[in-house]
Amino acid sequence: MPRGSNLERVSAFNQAVVLDLVRRSEAGLSRVELIGATGLSTQTVSNIARRLLDLGLIRESGKVHVPQGKPRTTLTIDPRSRFAVGVHLDPSRLTFVLLDLAGAVIHRSHIPVEAVAGPKETVIRIARAVEDLITDSGIPGDRVLGVGIAAPGPIEFDQGAVVGPPMLTGWARVELRESLGEATGLPVFLEKDSTAAAHAELWVRDQRSDQNFVFIYLGSGTGAAVVLDGEVVRGSSNNVGEIGHFSTGDGGRMCGCGRTGCLGVSVMPVKLVMEASQQGLVPGPVDEEDLQQVAKRFAELAVLAQGGDGRAGALFLEAAQRLSRAVEDIANLLDVDAVVLGGPSWAPVAEHYLAVLRSALSSRLAMGMIHQVEARGSALGEDIAAIGAACIVLDHVLAPRAEGLLLE
Ligand SMILES: [Zn+2]
Repeated sequence: MPRGSNLERVSAFNQAVVLDLVRRSEAGLSRVELIGATGLSTQTVSNIARRLLDLGLIRESGKVHVPQGKPRTTLTIDPRSRFAVGVHLDPSRLTFVLLDLAGAVIHRSHIPVEAVAGPKETVIRIARAVEDLITDSGIPGDRVLGVGIAAPGPIEFDQGAVVGPPMLTGWARVELRESLGEATGLPVFLEKDSTAAAHAELWVRDQRSDQNFVFIYLGSGTGAAVVLDGEVVRGSSNNVGEIGHFSTGDGGRMCGCGRTGCLGVSVMPVKLVMEASQQGLVPGPVDEEDLQQVAKRFAELAVLAQGGDGRAGALFLEAAQRLSRAVEDIANLLDVDAVVLGGPSWAPVAEHYLAVLRSALSSRLAMGMIHQVEARGSALGEDIAAIGAACIVLDHVLAPRAEGLLLE
């Protein structure tokens, strides 16, 4: 029994390795190239290719002529053979994306979350929106592999539960994975929003991009994710990256934890907007529980700063400097090549923060003499956590994982 099960695991692993290589190759790969890239035997690659063709996951897409021997058939992924849904539960709105097997977004939708919406009602709305997303996109429902959902951390990963996410009233402990699984009838994967965003960044990377980076997630709250050697670092409870209470130096706003200057309160849109409102910089009054209004005012405040308003500029400058202090510490600890920033609140502040971050990273890094650390914004936009959640579904099905090979 154990022998057979190990062989099955090796076989599934080999298949995932081949599929992953084909997926990552834009032009496709021939069987000969796959043999060269994997070190697997001709017979094994041929069997795997046959199986993947039968499953409809790949297709034969033309022939390449070589100087000697038979022309080689190119194998490419069939992007429309399978799909994954990604959901992002943010305190201000719900985002839904449908990804094809190549990781391209083929459909997306957004619905606002009222501050009062409880978990039960929200799960029903999510399930309905997932159904609408699949119907509206016109794809066959049986090709959907599952639903990934990104939520604010920390999460109880093993139980698939969100645990008291900030700014979501009535969400003390909600077993989201199970209830959403029952409501949709699909396999559900729960992940922290920042971790999901890092997965998205990894999925779109090309061969040359960073294998070691920190992802700084800016949404209604702030989080981080760590990617080392091309893998998302998970930690003991899958909650790596809770940076909300990182110290950013003396002074700063009062935090709920009793200290001042924590990173979370230094960069949270609601805090900047409330301060701007007190200074009369944005039209008031602002209801701090109305996170959609806060997002709107936050964008307006950023435009004001870009236009040269000194007081608005000072608010963003201080936020950028405090963020930089935390990012320097993180970069020094982990020896990464890049700091990537993104999330729903990133776009308005990108210009304000990048210049300050780049200057900090070029002057105050211990490894600065050895290599540079690049700071850049993600190209994936404000839906990145939802995209990442769908990538986790695809990853689960497609990516070769070393743990699949462990002996029992
Ligand atoms: Zn704090």
